[in-house]
Amino acid sequence: MPRQLPALFVGHGNPMNAMFRNAWTEAWRELGERIGKPRAILAISAHWYAPGTGVTAGEAPRTLHDFGGFPNELYAVQYPASGDPELGRRVQALLAPLAVELDPTWGLDHGTWSVLRHMYPDADVPVVQLRIDETQPAAFHHDLGRRLAALRSEDVLVLGSGNLVHNLHAYSWGRHSPAPFDWAVRFEARAKELMLSGNHAPLIDYEALGRDALLSIPTPEHYLPLLYVLGTRGPGEALTFPLEGVDGGSISMLAVQVGYKKGTEALSEL
Ligand code: ZN
Repeated sequence: MPRQLPALFVGHGNPMNAMFRNAWTEAWRELGERIGKPRAILAISAHWYAPGTGVTAGEAPRTLHDFGGFPNELYAVQYPASGDPELGRRVQALLAPLAVELDPTWGLDHGTWSVLRHMYPDADVPVVQLRIDETQPAAFHHDLGRRLAALRSEDVLVLGSGNLVHNLHAYSWGRHSPAPFDWAVRFEARAKELMLSGNHAPLIDYEALGRDALLSIPTPEHYLPLLYVLGTRGPGEALTFPLEGVDGGSISMLAVQVGYKKGTEALSEL
């Protein structure tokens, strides 16, 4: 049996985390160290959410500053990881007969680089990003994850980046983080329980989980990267939460790791 890498979902939260050094970013750094450097990364971020499944196919993907109203320093951040066109073609092959567009011009969005800047600060691991097809239902994305699971045996880190709970209407942008909203806490607890039990079906059909789920996932793009990562999970495979916590009352920073690698069972409880 070839060595299998874990698959990882991270809650990226505030874009400023790219520049901050805080409990979240320290945990990401530690995760990078513990997982080690893979051959390449397939990143699935909330911020490339558009019609049609696609992958970046350039040799040198641009650093996209896809946000507004942040300090100039954040716009100056570059994450110069190389691309990996061969991995893009491998993704195409794994997902066939689904049409997967090779996009030579798109780059890495902040959901990807704000986290990778801490996990792999030298930007020396090639990164391919996958476009999440916004026209497809949740089950489609979980199924794509299942078909991409083979990459874990090919030394490719499947990295989902979003937030399990992501409600910006309720988010506190102030310096002092309020206590998490009760619906956020309840939904996160329910989702964790379902993940630990291996029961992904209610997580795919999340709208049926009721009001807590709808407040936590007002739009699907930050949630769907998690379904890709869960899709890579083998039967009965271990799942852990290497990083926990809620930022600004309504953004879950929960990280979800599918599969163990020695020493990565748990990092910290925040
Ligand atoms: Zn985001």
